[in-house]
Amino acid sequence: YFPEEETNQTTQTMQQSNAEKLPHLSGYLNNLQTHIINPLQTSEFYHPNKDFYISASDVILTPSTFDLSSPISFLAYHRAGPRMHICFEPSRVRAAIVTCGGLCPGLNTVIRELVVGLWNMYGVRNILGVKSGYRGFYSSEEPVHLDPKMVHNWHKRGGTALETSRGGFDLHKIVDAIQHRGFNQVYIIGGDGTMRGAVKIFDEITRRNLNIGITVLPKTVDNDVGIIDRSFGFQTAVEMAQQAISAAHVEAESAVNGIGLVKLMGRSTGHIALFSTLSSRDVDCCLIPENEFYLEGKGGLFEFLDNRLKENSHAVLVVAEGAGQALIPRTEAEKEEKDESGNPVFLDVGVWLKSELKKWWDRDHPGELSTVKYIDPTYMIRAVTANATDNLYCTLLANAAIHGVMADVVAKAKNEVDTKDHKWAWVRSVTNQPDFARIQ
Ligand code: ATP
Ligand code: MG
Repeated sequence: YFPEEETNQTTQTMQQSNAEKLPHLSGYLNNLQTHIINPLQTSEFYHPNKDFYISASDVILTPSTFDLSSPISFLAYHRAGPRMHICFEPSRVRAAIVTCGGLCPGLNTVIRELVVGLWNMYGVRNILGVKSGYRGFYSSEEPVHLDPKMVHNWHKRGGTALETSRGGFDLHKIVDAIQHRGFNQVYIIGGDGTMRGAVKIFDEITRRNLNIGITVLPKTVDNDVGIIDRSFGFQTAVEMAQQAISAAHVEAESAVNGIGLVKLMGRSTGHIALFSTLSSRDVDCCLIPENEFYLEGKGGLFEFLDNRLKENSHAVLVVAEGAGQALIPRTEAEKEEKDESGNPVFLDVGVWLKSELKKWWDRDHPGELSTVKYIDPTYMIRAVTANATDNLYCTLLANAAIHGVMADVVAKAKNEVDTKDHKWAWVRSVTNQPDFARIQ
């Protein structure tokens, strides 16, 4: 959208013009009513002040920084927040909440805040938790009724009280179940695979011409989703990763030629490794998927470590789980292997690197002492409760999800570490590690 087209238009006329622009969505958009007064306008907690509400012309422009000397076009997103008028009569809302994919700190907080927000802000009384991911829509396990009393403590627990799963995406069964159970708002919390599934559900709902709102809250501890500033759980993960790095540092310092190796989450992007490296300052080398590395020869990892061990007699390595995947030898079976959701299987870079480090040391330094201490804190990090900052952020996201619907474009936008930007330059200045890509 471009903001000038929207200024002074009511949401209703905007939807009409959007229906013309987006013919495949016309049935869906025409079905929506926007004349219902938002109950927040009459709530004792919220001001009836117009400024409190997001108007149709209130947008966020991307990019936020640009070069004044070159021509630029902006993409505008509707700002999240309460609207003066809404599409659903709250007493008729039957909301479903589901969590899919792996664990992430903050999942329970998001569920809690969705329930409390729907209940307290909009007076919704039919809120159901779908158990065990997408398959829970059509499995024999009945969804559970949720209310603020039931969820009041959930933000203090890690994991997801609704349980989660991978696989089990049967589009027609899911949409049939949504219809059959009478859900008209579906809140889905999950990662990239979940988002792809949600887009398919939305398309099917549109095809069936149903008046059902689908909202996805992006869950990715790796912070690899574009558009949003950061994903919930990321800050908690960085904080927990510090503890693993500190432990690796203590182990490395306390041994002769000690090498501490920490594997951190980050399959396609290395944000957790990068932020943990920058904030801990104990890391000698940070390996991420965006920056290919190599082991042997000039400018390689072994040469760098050799020098570091000579200087300091210890070294700490951080490796993101998606780094070095091309270097790890794969059997024919491993080349073909996919996980339950069809993603290529990642080989364990930590275990592989530990063994390569040992082989290298024994080959190049026979008879000399050295120890590699390998720490993989993945499951410990995923399972903890969200820290205060993430808890607050989960509340914001849940509220934003309730107030509006996030665009499906998020499923296609990836947030990678830009190895040409200042943050990666900081990592290199903090660690003084080689820029593998350039030397090779
Ligand atoms: P994460 O990888 O962060 O743990 P995720 O959402 O990517 O989270 P997946 O296991 O890939 O986790 O997917 C979760 C759910 O989404 C599963 O039920 C899976 O079947 C479904 N799903 C994954 N990819 C697709 C797809 N392309 N189309 C439809 N459904 C999908
Ligand atoms: Mg995924």
